[in-house]
Amino acid sequence: MLKVTCIWILVVMSSVVTACTSVPGTGRERLNFMPSAQMQQLGQDGFRSILNESTVVETGPDVTRVEAIADRIVRSARSLYPGAELPDEWVVVVIEDDSPNAFALPGGRIGIHTGMIELAGSDDDIAIVIGHEVAHVMADHAGERMSQALMLAGGLALGDAALRDQNQQTRAIILSAMGAGAMVGISLPYSRLHETEADELGLMIAAHAGFDPRGAIGLWERMAADGPSRVEFLSTHPDPSSRIDDLRRIMPSAMAMYRAATR
Ligand SMILES: [Zn+2]
Repeated sequence: MLKVTCIWILVVMSSVVTACTSVPGTGRERLNFMPSAQMQQLGQDGFRSILNESTVVETGPDVTRVEAIADRIVRSARSLYPGAELPDEWVVVVIEDDSPNAFALPGGRIGIHTGMIELAGSDDDIAIVIGHEVAHVMADHAGERMSQALMLAGGLALGDAALRDQNQQTRAIILSAMGAGAMVGISLPYSRLHETEADELGLMIAAHAGFDPRGAIGLWERMAADGPSRVEFLSTHPDPSSRIDDLRRIMPSAMAMYRAATR
């Protein structure tokens, strides 16, 4: 029995060791044992079910504008972080919804509400929002969160069974872990660490694409004034001033990137 237990511990330990990866751009070491192919599939399935329950804006100026901005952001992420594992194909959808929200799922699926387009206003600020969402995907925060959640839920075997047998509640937890919790009415917000990391990487990606990063502080202030209820960006930030402080800290680097990109 002892021998079996030891072997099992070794198996678990070796999979944990091989699952330690670092985040592109920040170099932060973290545990992530979710295979990217599985995350991409979950993201695509989750996106489809969100769209089934949403009013999608099919054509028009908002769609053209958001697609063009997202295209520049994705190309910027590829050139700035060439070692990052990014989906080959991205799908960007504008959703008719007054709440200022946006989300991105593994597999390169991005949704942005009309309320967020209105609140952001300028192309620069929309680019900051999309940069933040692309950064969550690039850093695979969803895979890291699901790894943590599955470890807490009793280990890999249980997690695998849960993923295969997707009942309504499991599906909601998976969507929430992928950053779309607001869409399914349960709250499993990104950690403060992930939000700060997405802010930092997203701002650099937007600046490298030639979008002015200086609007970021005003953008988060407007979101804070709108209320935290359904806004992904605010769910883990009870103190907006700490987010503003973080943005001020990284702004000189983002400005240097922006000036180099627009010289
Ligand atoms: Zn976020």
